[in-house]
Amino acid sequence: MARVDLNHVWKRFGGFDAVKDVDLRIADGEFVVLVGPSGCGKTTTLRMIAGLEDITEGEIRIDGVVVNQMPPKDRDVAMVFQSYALYPHLNAFDNMAFSLKMRHFPDARGMPAKLPRDEIERRVRAAAKLLGIEDQLEKKPGQLSGGQRQRVALGRAIVRNPKVFLFDEPLSNLDAKLRVAMRAELAKLHQRLRSTMVYVTHDQAEAMTLGDRVVVMDRGVVQQVDDPQTLYDHPTNQFVAGFIGSPAMNFLDATIAEGNGTAWLDFGEFRLRVPANLRMVVQDHAGKTVIFGIRPEDLHDRIFAQFAQPDATVTAKVEVKEAMGSDLFLYAVVGGDTVHARVSPSTKVEVGETLDLYFDLTKMHLFDKATGAAIL
Ligand code: ATP
Repeated sequence: MARVDLNHVWKRFGGFDAVKDVDLRIADGEFVVLVGPSGCGKTTTLRMIAGLEDITEGEIRIDGVVVNQMPPKDRDVAMVFQSYALYPHLNAFDNMAFSLKMRHFPDARGMPAKLPRDEIERRVRAAAKLLGIEDQLEKKPGQLSGGQRQRVALGRAIVRNPKVFLFDEPLSNLDAKLRVAMRAELAKLHQRLRSTMVYVTHDQAEAMTLGDRVVVMDRGVVQQVDDPQTLYDHPTNQFVAGFIGSPAMNFLDATIAEGNGTAWLDFGEFRLRVPANLRMVVQDHAGKTVIFGIRPEDLHDRIFAQFAQPDATVTAKVEVKEAMGSDLFLYAVVGGDTVHARVSPSTKVEVGETLDLYFDLTKMHLFDKATGAAIL
């Protein structure tokens, strides 16, 4: 197990900054997920930790040792790729044993030595047991399912007992159901091994379910590093607010107005009263147009009415209805905007009809229109 420190790390490809000033401390045994849209620099960051990509500026330390110039094989990290990268002509056992056979490990006196055959066998069988593939070890990759192949790729990393595991979208090639199952297995694996793990994905649900902490990146820049709940509750800017959470947060332009001894959010065709406990913060921005954010799950139908704040209801016309069984998703027009609402499946409304949507403004977010930074 090991700590990983990225100190003001930059990666430049020609004149293009792919990773900009990433400064991150990953604790011993922590599961950290790098997440962001395609091209945000997450894979490049992971590859710099692995040593597969040079660092343009800054330094990376593993357990306090600067590894900038250290070749990948000396870093004691194991990487699991999206493509599995298994040897097609070797069976699962030999794929897992391969790196153990090829490498030298420090012996009792710290001298490099080959691992004895029985130790290799013990490690492979233990990893196979952990991953539930003990009865698949004789099969070649072509005879295994996608999930089994991914387990072999994981096993190949586990047998090495590395200081750090690096995962590059390891579940992307699996179908949706298997992805969710493997996600839970990875979480269990981390609980058992307690190794330091750095995981790259573009899937926010994977990031939220796996990460002790999640690093949200956009255009090479770290936007926020926090535990999943904090990211959801307190996104630092509009990008994070829109990226984390599914379905995504609704954003509407609103002008902050004062009147009748309270603060209002004026949307043009309707207005909402700011709850008393948030008034002080909001009033600081009186007269300004801001971006109002509300998550689909914080818009409610009449079931919520008894808990609703005053002046928090808008009549909405339903454009699209998606019945998911556990939830009902509505696309509904309020004023000049369409919002996505996640309401109770018992809500009785048809496409083209109107309903009263209650905005739970205690959960609202406000962002600066120019910078996107969170105001509330
Ligand atoms: P994806 O999810 O699509 O893999 P990512 O967030 O992992 O995206 P990176 O692969 O890290 O993104 O790439 C970051 C940026 O750097 C992209 O704009 C990419 O085009 C660019 N880039 C990556 N590798 C190279 C390279 N070898 N030469 C030039 N540009 C590169």
